[in-house]
Amino acid sequence: MMLVRGSEPVPKHGKLPPMTELHPALQSAYDTVLSRNGGEAEFHQAVHEVLESLNPVVRRHPQYADRAILERICEPERQIIFRVPWSDDRGRIHINRAFRVEFNSALGPYKGGLRFHPSVYLGIIKFLGFEQTFKNALTGLPIGGGKGGSDFDPKGRSDGEVMRFCQSLMTELYRHIGEYTDVPAGDIGVGGREIGYLFGQYKRITNRYESGVLTGKGIGWGGSLVRTEATGYGLVYFLQQMLGTKKASLDGRRVVVSGSGNVAVHAIEKAQELGATVLACSDSAGYVVDHKGIDLALLREIKVAKRGRIAEYAARRGADAEYVPGGSIWNVPCEVALPCATQNELTEADAAALIQSGVIAVAEGANMPCTPDAIRAFQSAGVLYAPGKAANAGGVATSALEMQQNAGRDSWSFDYTDKRLGEIMVAVHERCAAAAADYGQPGNYAMGANISGFVHVADAMMAQGLI
Ligand code: NDP
Repeated sequence: MMLVRGSEPVPKHGKLPPMTELHPALQSAYDTVLSRNGGEAEFHQAVHEVLESLNPVVRRHPQYADRAILERICEPERQIIFRVPWSDDRGRIHINRAFRVEFNSALGPYKGGLRFHPSVYLGIIKFLGFEQTFKNALTGLPIGGGKGGSDFDPKGRSDGEVMRFCQSLMTELYRHIGEYTDVPAGDIGVGGREIGYLFGQYKRITNRYESGVLTGKGIGWGGSLVRTEATGYGLVYFLQQMLGTKKASLDGRRVVVSGSGNVAVHAIEKAQELGATVLACSDSAGYVVDHKGIDLALLREIKVAKRGRIAEYAARRGADAEYVPGGSIWNVPCEVALPCATQNELTEADAAALIQSGVIAVAEGANMPCTPDAIRAFQSAGVLYAPGKAANAGGVATSALEMQQNAGRDSWSFDYTDKRLGEIMVAVHERCAAAAADYGQPGNYAMGANISGFVHVADAMMAQGLI
């Protein structure tokens, strides 16, 4: 089987994750989500995971069992769907579909990335927007939750084609966003190149240099140092905190990282800096194992600079590395696993293989990469497990720092911004740990993240009235 099974492990129209019994108010909210959002399995999965954690919260604090909170928090404030027509280099016309789900603005302007990938449909964007709402709350910064994207596939497209697509998309999106309204950024398939084209078109249409409307901008024109590195670095900072609770560190550890995009590359960089050996990484076609440790410069040249395939890495590295087309990267024995590719890429069988090989910690760089069964397996085996909404929050947190710099017409040094990122990740870890301990489940970061994020957003919603 291929590394990333896209939506295969939780089929779009297929079976739902097994449920633990929910408090009647939570069950009622979940039933409403199921009936209103038919066929959106990833969204159902994300909602169920949060509601499951809230059982003890609604028992202790009945005010949260109110439909006015539970149903509203699961229903996006606004969902925008539009067509994106564009022409390729040969003059052929293509029509893609794009989405922006403005999920929750209780804490600040909607904030969350844009994803360009053929698997994108409304259910994926809703799950990401829902997760984003709690993740953003966990950062402690004033940002609401949103997400967007398109089923456009940038693979194999020329720069000109990507530019025309981005310009066409922004020609509709511009009317919905703004630095006080909704601030998109990158995600899968959307990096510095795409943000540049999107920003240029926004500026042209509005005739305003509104730096704070998008984050992930280039350093020379409003971007923040550390934003590119932030998700991967932040993931490793969170991991350090988590290992620290067991008096363990990354030094000398064998690490496996899935993916080879923005998050994966910077997680590899930081893990290596802290003394770990990263043995394997992947793309959607397969994975490489490098017994001497991944050569980051070579990986960057192939995957970042040339937008190539990871198979080339093994070909160029020679006898030390092997390429495995398809297959599961989680069969590579390691002590630390960092899934950094996409949702549902690590199944129960993968978790069993990792536990068998002696994994001690799993931290999610991607959003929802572990299936619910895999998470349960890690937790019952005593493996430290960090959910994406906490562990990968460094990306959006540094986007918020970019917005701060834009608002102050300022730009901060790399070291200062990295220090802020580090402090934020320590605080995210503390919030999760404290909430988990408060509800009698010390070390259950999934529960802690869901509870802390929920309470913060729900309290703000209640204070702002029924809107
Ligand atoms: P990139 O596009 O830079 O890289 C994605 C990587 O994952 C690539 O190696 C890609 O392989 C692989 N991949 C993506 N989707 C699939 C799929 N459906 N099947 C197989 N392989 C896939 O994205 P990012 O690194 O930015 O994002 C990775 C994850 O991290 C996502 O879940 C994203 O939501 C999450 N995230 C990203 C943040 C950011 O700041 N960028 C912030 C927080 C979370 P290939 O090269 O073959 O396409």
